[in-house]
Amino acid sequence: MSKYCIANWKMYMNRNKIDSYFNDFLEKDFDKNCKLIICPSPMHIDYVYEKIRTNKSIFLGSQNISEHENGAFTGECSLEMLLESNCMYSIIGHSERRELFNENDFNVNSKLQILNNSPVNPIICIGETSDENESGITKAVLKNQLIKIFDNIDFKDTKEYIIAYEPIWAIGTGKSADTETIYSIHKFLKNIINEINTNNCNICLLYGGSVNDNNAAEILSINEVDGFLIGSASLNADKFYNIYNKF
Ligand code: PEP
Repeated sequence: MSKYCIANWKMYMNRNKIDSYFNDFLEKDFDKNCKLIICPSPMHIDYVYEKIRTNKSIFLGSQNISEHENGAFTGECSLEMLLESNCMYSIIGHSERRELFNENDFNVNSKLQILNNSPVNPIICIGETSDENESGITKAVLKNQLIKIFDNIDFKDTKEYIIAYEPIWAIGTGKSADTETIYSIHKFLKNIINEINTNNCNICLLYGGSVNDNNAAEILSINEVDGFLIGSASLNADKFYNIYNKF
């Protein structure tokens, strides 16, 4: 089972910041049994590729992908464009896309269909709101998301399927879910995944939500956690590397 340490830079970086980020970063050892993936904005994917192209341990991902192949979709980024830019991974269904751009599980399913027929691997985000969490319906919400997202997906053993459980109330708040919660939810999700016909494909389950270099080791000690999707702490090269180093 692969492990993943994934950076979601959101819309925070610029070329100067990216230059500084990679000043020391590329000199470090990347010998952990863990894939390190950086997801810059679409404007910076080629720029980051030029930095990392000789490093075989760092991979590129996008923060989103269009559910359409091509056409009049202003502002969107297609699979073909991602492939041309050497992106091997794509985040889909991030809660910010859902909350701010009205994406739903139906759209995420369409994006997954596109990725499933391509060499680009999906990083599928699911998670409950704080209201859903407080109402005690987290597991029902997550199960429903997974069933809709995986509807009619013909799983392929050539692909890497990555799910990131990201409680929305933990994203960018500095308040990570506690280890008992992460354990219980991940165990539940792994059981659901086992019930779905995934053609025996490996599906990795990451945690995301205020992971930092202080809480990473404890969360990683949970067997059911196959890695992290990281926002804020991935913007700082040293902090992100410290987290990678815990694998
Ligand atoms: C995210 O945006 O996917 C995320 C997990 O952010 P943060 O690490 O800042 O909570």
